[in-house]
Amino acid sequence: MSRPSSLRSEPAGAGGEPTGSVTPLTQYVLKLVSRCDLACDHCYVYEHPDQSWRRQPRMMAPATVAAVAGRIAEHAAAHRLDAVRVVLHGGEPLLAGAARLDATAAALRGAIDPVARLDLRMQSNGVLLTPAVCDVLLAHDIKVGISLDGDRAANDRHRRHANGASSHRQVLRALSLLRSPAYRAAYAGILCTVDVANDPIRVYEALLAEEPPHIDFLLPHANWDNPPARPDGRATPYADWLLAVHRRWLADGRPVPIRLLESLLSTASGHGSHSEAVGLGPADLVVVETDGTFEQVDSLKSAFDGAAATGLDVFRHRVDDAAAHPGIAVRQTGLAGLCPTCRACPVVRHCGGGLYAHRHRAGNGFDNPSVYCPDLLKLVRVVTAAPPVDEPVPPADSLSPRVLDDLAAGAGTAGSAEQLAAIHLALVRALLVTLGDRVDGDPVAAAGWRLLVDLDDAHPEAVRTVLTHPFVRRWARRCRDGAADLSYLACVAAAAAVHARIRADLPVPVRDGRVSLPTLGAIARHAERGVVRLATDDGDVRVGGRRFNPDTDPAREDDPDGWLPVRTVRVDGHRLLLEDTDPHRDCYDIPVEPRLTGAAAVGWVRQLERAVRRVDAEAPDYAAGVRTLLRAVVPLRPDRTGRYRSAAAGAAFGAVAVTAVPDDATLAVLLVHEVQHLKLSATLDVCDLFDRDDTRTLTVPWRDDPRPVEGALHGVYAHLAVADMWRRRPGPVAEGHFRRYRAWTDGAIDALLGLGALTPDGDRFVRRMRAAVDGWQ
Ligand code: SF4
Ligand code: SF4
Repeated sequence: MSRPSSLRSEPAGAGGEPTGSVTPLTQYVLKLVSRCDLACDHCYVYEHPDQSWRRQPRMMAPATVAAVAGRIAEHAAAHRLDAVRVVLHGGEPLLAGAARLDATAAALRGAIDPVARLDLRMQSNGVLLTPAVCDVLLAHDIKVGISLDGDRAANDRHRRHANGASSHRQVLRALSLLRSPAYRAAYAGILCTVDVANDPIRVYEALLAEEPPHIDFLLPHANWDNPPARPDGRATPYADWLLAVHRRWLADGRPVPIRLLESLLSTASGHGSHSEAVGLGPADLVVVETDGTFEQVDSLKSAFDGAAATGLDVFRHRVDDAAAHPGIAVRQTGLAGLCPTCRACPVVRHCGGGLYAHRHRAGNGFDNPSVYCPDLLKLVRVVTAAPPVDEPVPPADSLSPRVLDDLAAGAGTAGSAEQLAAIHLALVRALLVTLGDRVDGDPVAAAGWRLLVDLDDAHPEAVRTVLTHPFVRRWARRCRDGAADLSYLACVAAAAAVHARIRADLPVPVRDGRVSLPTLGAIARHAERGVVRLATDDGDVRVGGRRFNPDTDPAREDDPDGWLPVRTVRVDGHRLLLEDTDPHRDCYDIPVEPRLTGAAAVGWVRQLERAVRRVDAEAPDYAAGVRTLLRAVVPLRPDRTGRYRSAAAGAAFGAVAVTAVPDDATLAVLLVHEVQHLKLSATLDVCDLFDRDDTRTLTVPWRDDPRPVEGALHGVYAHLAVADMWRRRPGPVAEGHFRRYRAWTDGAIDALLGLGALTPDGDRFVRRMRAAVDGWQ
């Protein structure tokens, strides 16, 4: 583990005094039983790399219980603790039986209660919970948490007996006992492990039906060597899952405390977290195995064999010795104990780097962000920005029904478009945090990452300007997938430094004979590849002894070391880039034009100015989306058939690509058409409008080949806008276009509604489109 050696200290041994310098431990997990009557396939005790349970006695002996109780009482007295929490755990603690449980609780209470208040708990799968056991729980004031992953289908996904039989009915029987008035006092809550294959709302409803005093959601144990499943390559499935629960939970008025969400809300209001999964609070917890050995937090068993071991035990060592163990002590150092990426992270005070076990990577131990970093970033940003219960959920990662309705009507307001832009920015940030973790070993990328993190604090607007550039997202996605160059991160940071007008100096990569600065342009170099130093100062850029001002210096196409600025289209305060330089712009089916000559570029700029003005004049409602979302236009090469072509890509949100067209009216329609695709792509980033597992296709009026649901939905949404544009134009030609596009939209709406593949949100969305089209009559 790459930790400062000063954290290491030798155990004091049984005869030593309490060290006095350790942070006292207040929470103890006692492995009463080391075996289990279930065989859950996501269990970190039995199914993960650490197999130390095989070497443990099946049950904690009474002498060991007495020794543990004595050590805890000794520690509580030495540190004058008011209270300690002891959790009886396993394996399955109920395998000990009611009598053993009774004796264990009596021993613990007998030793600890005279010194400190004992909060005695148990975590169980519930299978063996009986009225006799519940009587013991009540007699010793033991509160029990039950593990349940949702409804029958969700719970059966993992929580089964060794013979494959379901445990669901037995668990529900246990919960009905705990709900009964006689035993309600012993009911602590439900622990649920998230599986993104389960429907979040059904899981939430199934848990809520058991009337638990608390719900705990756990992310499945994973680390960088065994990363969590991310179905369909989605970046943040766990955040999306938990945010679906979060939305419903807020809408329900927070009927039950959900520890993870309550913890984030608590950190947002300046208080501590109630969960070791998030926040910077010390993890003052130690585990005692059935043989009396002290271990670090249990979830480390998911990292590697022996990960939780300390070499200490209750017979020879005090709790102080365990508290001084480096693996336990480091988890009490808050911010200082985190990796550089987390320390620089803007949400670290809420996130805290996630659960310790989830940071592990072979080679550098726990000195990493959580493997759930993108999910945590997204979850933290949304939950900590949540307004009071009776207000709508904020827009950063979700769309309210009101906004969905607004967008479905066709144009959508500027406010709705701004919400889509906010979603795009949040996704880019999440991607970058993932990349930031990979910069070790790439000095160019590492320098860029450090600069970007600093700028994000000091000049967030400059960083925002660059991160919202359409092709930064495309590069980041390709880079995440191993298809693009990580060192381009330095170019992203350098561009942000220019916008911030600060002084910076860093290495940047040369690719294909250029240093590219997204949003600004490129500097031509003689070399095809390599690294050069780039300095910025007060908005200027200096490379290889040449100085450029991106705002004022003209293009020097004939200069082999010249400045190739991106050309800008300005229309009444709206700034749009004519993007013929960015190296990541080639994301369309049609090839992009290479760098335009000066004269050609002037022609494009002038025509784009006129086309945007034309949208303003003809369709001010669609102009809101164009002005809010459109940041770049990419010239495409002419189509061989002579048709005018246009394209948009979800991976390059904010950019539209078009072939040269002869008139402004056509260009205006193409811009509106493609901005519709951008709006729908961003909507689909956060809303499931159709069942993604449904692979059926449908026939649409504008294509000969059958289309998947997503393609049909995109086509309808774009054609609705095109019909609406032509509807507003005078003359028989316009009327003919209007009738054709309206008929296409009409037919495909019917096909979509008839297929049965839409979600309730999707059905509502398409019916709103239907209402808009019918309104034209
Ligand atoms: S009930 Fe708990 S200890 Fe038993 S197999 Fe399942 S997850 Fe593991
Ligand atoms: S970098 Fe990731 S894991 Fe670390 S604090 Fe930020 S969101 Fe959490």
